[in-house]
Amino acid sequence: MSFLGSALVTTSTDPHALLAGARARVAAAADLQALQALERELLGKSGPAGLILASIPTLPPEQRKAAGAQANELKRALEEACAARRTALESAALESERSGGDFDPTLPPAPLERGGLHPVTRVVRELEDLFTSMGYTILDGPEVELDWYNFEALNIPKDHPARDAQDTFYCDPAGRLVLRTHTSPVQVRAMERMQPPFRAIVPGKVFRNEATDASHEHTFHQMEGLVVGKDVSVGHLIGAMKTLLRGVFGRDIEIRLRPGYFPFVEPGFELDARCPFCTSGCRVCKQSTWIELLPCGMVHPNVLKSGGIDPEQWTGFAFGLGLSRLVMLRYGIDDVRHLLSGDLRFLEQF
Ligand SMILES: [Zn+2]
Repeated sequence: MSFLGSALVTTSTDPHALLAGARARVAAAADLQALQALERELLGKSGPAGLILASIPTLPPEQRKAAGAQANELKRALEEACAARRTALESAALESERSGGDFDPTLPPAPLERGGLHPVTRVVRELEDLFTSMGYTILDGPEVELDWYNFEALNIPKDHPARDAQDTFYCDPAGRLVLRTHTSPVQVRAMERMQPPFRAIVPGKVFRNEATDASHEHTFHQMEGLVVGKDVSVGHLIGAMKTLLRGVFGRDIEIRLRPGYFPFVEPGFELDARCPFCTSGCRVCKQSTWIELLPCGMVHPNVLKSGGIDPEQWTGFAFGLGLSRLVMLRYGIDDVRHLLSGDLRFLEQF
């Protein structure tokens, strides 16, 4: 230790004696607990290094640097001593455990619990792969949303009847903040930030103040899709939806479009898929052989304007996929409430 040979620094504390005393105490620490307490004391403010540091302001300026170095070296020496004692104590403890009568090294360890991915996560990941392969970007948006993005910017003004249809959780008395009732607000957020042409999907949780039953839940998952470009048409929309269904069900599924009204698209459609479970009617399709899958349509010019995009130059389509519903169809789940129940008996099946 170089500081031990240094006679340049004179302090009120003698480093030789401090270190020797501290080392003796460390070597005598009876167990890990005692060592830990000692470590706290020796390396703390009133430990040997701490005392030297505290004395620095009383020293002549030319001695201060050397005293600082001395304190650091002392601290390092103490840390080394503590580490050596820790290793010794730990191996002694292990040795005594091994030689003790009740330790059986042949016993198998406690079994590890095996986890799994939630069915929603599985489907979301598959869809993300599918859509990124088609050049889509994956976006996220706030779950607590401004009224402006959730309604107003989507062509749903204050007095619009569409607001009654969505039982909204309002977050403040002024009604400025809501729990988003759909993933559509991210459409406008995307348009504000991205320059067309672009394609994006937005998987996420949405919230509605609904009485829960087998097909309704206050919290569920949607996946919004938005494509803006030159001459984007309903044909592109149909193509994207067919690819989506092929990805989820592993084969081509017939679809049909019916006219549907949604304030943020024009024209708007309800897209139905041929029931993947039957040919002549079953419980899932309510004997109709068709399943209502998603609302979609061409983005309303007012919504493009809200997002700062010129509707004379650009067109786009959007769809709002009921992700929870798709997961239920995919895995034959009969009650939406299972999805967020946190019940391991349910989740362990996937
Ligand atoms: Zn069916």
